[in-house]
Amino acid sequence: MSTTAREAAAEILRSYDGPALRIMEVCGTHTHEIFRLGIRKLLPQQVDLISGPGCPVCVTPVGFIDEAVWLAEHGVTVTTFGDLVRVPGTSKNLADARAAGGRVQVVYSPLDALVYAKEHADEQVAFLSVGFETTIPAACLAADQAHEEAVGNFSLLTANKTMPNAYAALRQSADVFLYPGHVHAITGTGLCEELARQGVSGVLAGFTANELVTALAVAVRKFQEGKPFFVNAYPRVVRSEGTPAAVALMEKVMEPVDAEWRGLGVIPQSGLQLREAYAGVDARKKFDMPHIEGKPNPACRCGEVLQGHCKPSDCPLFGKVCSPQHPVGACMVSGEGACSAYFQYGGGLL
Ligand code: SF4
Repeated sequence: MSTTAREAAAEILRSYDGPALRIMEVCGTHTHEIFRLGIRKLLPQQVDLISGPGCPVCVTPVGFIDEAVWLAEHGVTVTTFGDLVRVPGTSKNLADARAAGGRVQVVYSPLDALVYAKEHADEQVAFLSVGFETTIPAACLAADQAHEEAVGNFSLLTANKTMPNAYAALRQSADVFLYPGHVHAITGTGLCEELARQGVSGVLAGFTANELVTALAVAVRKFQEGKPFFVNAYPRVVRSEGTPAAVALMEKVMEPVDAEWRGLGVIPQSGLQLREAYAGVDARKKFDMPHIEGKPNPACRCGEVLQGHCKPSDCPLFGKVCSPQHPVGACMVSGEGACSAYFQYGGGLL
């Protein structure tokens, strides 16, 4: 896109004088990039950007962190992306478990965790499989390889989420969804088209300044037409059919399950768990884990932030007790979390 075209899109945003409009950035990376690039400053007052639940770490319930801590305290090496180490559980996080002698290993991919397991045959190794359709295929690949190669010391602890039923649960929270480009690069655009037929509007957005400004300009223009719509404003990456091989792998290894989302509660069939054929790499079954009910910190308003019911800056702990250095809730820990975006880029002041 030329600078002129981006300026034209920016002018569409600046000059919007239609009715109040709530746009939900479903994806945490969108929230961060819109802040970081200063795009919020282009928007008139009646356009409200709401942060949604599209940060996998943020929507992971407290009970899952407690389960991961349980594994670390029972001699299992927990492998995970770095963000999860500092997410508070009911009474401790994985960093606390590590300080108390548990083994917690940060990895960059599920396949790295599998390699670690192969290189440490004397350890039981569990990977924390927390993600959306974007990253679940990689976890499925690691589980499938471990299963095929009979790697006896590798497993997954799953808390995966899928978007379709979450959109349905959130449809009253926004007028337009800014759909997550990475998720739909895997799943395609069929769901977004179906939602538009059901009256739910949305624009699929990429992640560059040009792509984000364009997607928002499309959202305000189409909203003024007064009819439900869907536009793929990220066609260089998202194809209507998505990535069938990745979808097939997910379907082979995992099956839908009711899933608890922080703040949103249990959404039917909105998670993915390992199929019975993969019980040997399912940490819950392998270690006969007890059901653990987590207790969220009642002072943290992450749940409301994730539903778009309040902004991070409405939380009394924001920037005082809670900061990226001393996070009280998951939304301040994660690099994709709304609270961390508001803290880093001063969004509370905009
Ligand atoms: S500012 Fe901290 S305590 Fe408040 S909602 Fe965000 S993460 Fe929770």
